[in-house]
Amino acid sequence: MLMKYDYLIVGAGLFGATFAYLARKRGKRCLVIDKRSHAGGNIYCENVEGINVHKYGAHIFHTSDKEVWDFVNSIVPFNRYTNCPVAQAPDGKLHNLPFNMNTFYQMWGVKTPAEAQAKLDEQRRDAVERMKEEGITEPRNLEEQALTLIGCDIYEQLIKGYTEKQWGRKCTELPAFIIRRLPVRMTFDNNYFNDSYQGIPIGGYNRLIDGLLDGVEVKLDTDFFADRARWESIADKIVFTGKIDEFYGYRFGKLEYRTVRFETETLDEPNHQGNAVVNYTAADVPYTRIIEHKHFETFGAAVYDNPHTVISREYSTEWTDGMEPFYPVNDERNQAVYEQYRTLASLESSVIFGGRLAEYKYYDMAPIIAQALNHFK
Ligand code: UDP
Repeated sequence: MLMKYDYLIVGAGLFGATFAYLARKRGKRCLVIDKRSHAGGNIYCENVEGINVHKYGAHIFHTSDKEVWDFVNSIVPFNRYTNCPVAQAPDGKLHNLPFNMNTFYQMWGVKTPAEAQAKLDEQRRDAVERMKEEGITEPRNLEEQALTLIGCDIYEQLIKGYTEKQWGRKCTELPAFIIRRLPVRMTFDNNYFNDSYQGIPIGGYNRLIDGLLDGVEVKLDTDFFADRARWESIADKIVFTGKIDEFYGYRFGKLEYRTVRFETETLDEPNHQGNAVVNYTAADVPYTRIIEHKHFETFGAAVYDNPHTVISREYSTEWTDGMEPFYPVNDERNQAVYEQYRTLASLESSVIFGGRLAEYKYYDMAPIIAQALNHFK
């Protein structure tokens, strides 16, 4: 006789694990299944030479939502990591990100916000006038957005090559919102995020996942689709965090993703690039960025305590079956396909869809937690 659960949670990633934690606190019986051999989804880290390696890509937690911040810190305290990526431009020069007074100084030699503003206005003028002439009020694609936001030099040097490598599509064919994630600042502030809080769990992300799943029944190496009828019969409700198109048997077609191939290397030196993240914005450098994992959790002189370091070069490619689906491609075609699935999903009374794959959304971690919290309000 199969045991009955209140919730069968398909996927032990951040949404599934947070949902399980909150449900368990309310006395609900949960079973979490995941097809991978570890929990944690894409925030899972692998320890190499004492360094937590972000196996599925760098994750930096950031939020302005105090409730979310307090929640995650109640599971595991977070460190003071602040993301300040550096970008190497096609000419080999380094620039600070996000676009701020340091970037403008490095790019043009301007030293004051007034000088920088004048330069930005000049840089943006052509694109702004072109849009005005054509009667366009909202940028229609990423290129228009970038040119009107930050101008031609920065677009050419720091955005175009990187973005086209990352997405495998022309900037004119990508949605404008992707670039709106990046702040533009008239201050000397290299903090990539505008949020009030950011950091990395002390001891690594696996502590967060272990804390969320503490006391919850988890079955790994277990594929929902391999025995769907059985899984659907053992719980009152299903929390589905996998791919929504797969859930519906791809009946409206397949959704597209971008995936990332990581070339990870352990080096016999303590400090390879002096920063967690260095982007390579040139179109002819095949990788988009190099992550040096130890910098997420060690600072200052402590970096030298470990004589080794681990780096990952990221190569962005189109997703095909069998690869990890990382980034949803929210262009018009995919969005239209997703809307059809979403309509079906909205009619379900016993299935809850949550997370990046089930909602086909380019999610940060904090909104995922917020969504799970909201579900129980
Ligand atoms: N971006 C860019 N140059 C950079 C870094 C980012 O043009 O050096 C653009 C690019 O279009 C990218 C978007 O900003 O897709 C969002 O970047 P973010 O770093 O937030 O992406 P993620 O870390 O989620 O991959």
